[in-house]
Amino acid sequence: PATELDQIVNLCKRRGFVYPSAEIYGGFRSTYDYGPLGSLLLRNVKEAWVRAMVQQRDDVVLIDAAILGPPQVWEASGHLSNFTDPLVDCTNCKNRFREDKLDDPNTCPSCGAKNSFTEAREFNLMFKTQAGPVEGSGADAYLRPETAQGMFTNFGQVLQTTRKKPPFGIAQVGKSFRNEITPQNWIFRTREFEQMELEFFVPPAEGPQWYEYWCNERLDWYVRHGIPADMLRIRAHDDDELSHYSTGTSDVEFTFPWGWDELEGIAQRTDYDLKQHSEHSGERLDYFDQPNNERYVPYVIEPAAGATRTMAAFLLAAYDEEEVGDGDKSDVRTVLRLHPRLAPYKVAVLPLSKKDTLTPLAHEVRKLVGDRYMVDYDETQSIGKRYRRQDEIGTPLCITVDFDSLDDNAVTVRERDTMEQVRVPIAELMPLLTEKLGF
Ligand code: ATP
Repeated sequence: PATELDQIVNLCKRRGFVYPSAEIYGGFRSTYDYGPLGSLLLRNVKEAWVRAMVQQRDDVVLIDAAILGPPQVWEASGHLSNFTDPLVDCTNCKNRFREDKLDDPNTCPSCGAKNSFTEAREFNLMFKTQAGPVEGSGADAYLRPETAQGMFTNFGQVLQTTRKKPPFGIAQVGKSFRNEITPQNWIFRTREFEQMELEFFVPPAEGPQWYEYWCNERLDWYVRHGIPADMLRIRAHDDDELSHYSTGTSDVEFTFPWGWDELEGIAQRTDYDLKQHSEHSGERLDYFDQPNNERYVPYVIEPAAGATRTMAAFLLAAYDEEEVGDGDKSDVRTVLRLHPRLAPYKVAVLPLSKKDTLTPLAHEVRKLVGDRYMVDYDETQSIGKRYRRQDEIGTPLCITVDFDSLDDNAVTVRERDTMEQVRVPIAELMPLLTEKLGF
């Protein structure tokens, strides 16, 4: 990986992508806030996922389930007893670590003490809270640690209201919460994060083929959205890594500055969840296959990605520093080569000067383009500096309105990646933008 984590973290803070939460109070370390640009980028990541997983298919529907839920759900899913990480204490410095993430199991990463760890104990990652003004265990509630259970608990209702039949999927995008022992690597591992998950229900015999299909499809999604294929790989889990419900899992991994690490897990959850919820709730959660006069509990293939974590990967892969100009005038520009669908702003409108004479036309252009695309408008400092600012935040196209525009009703369109410029009549601007952006 060419990009250091610090380069992206600094750019993101400086330009308003990602801020440490509650920084005016010293920060909270394990959560982040998404600023004016980051909130757009994150939204675009999620939209690109929904577009591929729902909009462009006829076998997946979308839901948006509650974050807060009763213990029964997590009892049935196995999370109350099994959703744990092994926790160790250093007897020397008193810091706590996740045992399976230690680089060296005999050396404390904080104080360097040797063989100072306690025996590992299982630490449950779920956030527990109280629902309503009642106290006591009757009011226990949990923040979901994954979005998946919403798809299982609503399986029967979705089946009934949509008349889908396996193979079909239920997708969801939203926040999840895990009381991670060691949040780390910026937005890679936080206690509050966003997930993009699909539960794909299939006839049991078709499990393996759909598992393979989703591994390929999901890897390809990252490539289609601009991550170079050589920065990605699929890694099958060893048996001892498998979650409590899985008979086979592969991760899509990205080469982060600290090495290969997970972007997404594609798990074969079998009929585990539907059976568990059926048993615990007493509701029938299966499918009646009329033509074959057969009732069965579908198997589930689950591609589960992190929206916030994926956003970090898109930023890291997009970051580039490039030498431009020549000789004495050469200079380095920073460019975020984000896919146009992901870029926070698709277009920036830049009046050449702040003079009043240009403002009305520049505003008109801004309004025209803003009707279709997210647009930035910037009239401060030199045009060269403004181009650089847009390059640095990944804006694919800049439109310059100059004094000639007042006579010829044309503007200049400049491309982020090639820095090429073309003059185009305003009447033909929108088709040109659509052609250049690809949508
Ligand atoms: P890990 O082993 O890294 O803790 P996991 O295998 O438990 O992760 P899953 O339960 O498979 O993760 O979650 C699916 C996806 O959700 C992950 O691939 C990741 O992109 C995202 N995710 C999970 N936990 C976090 C977190 N704490 N912060 C940000 N994203 C997360």
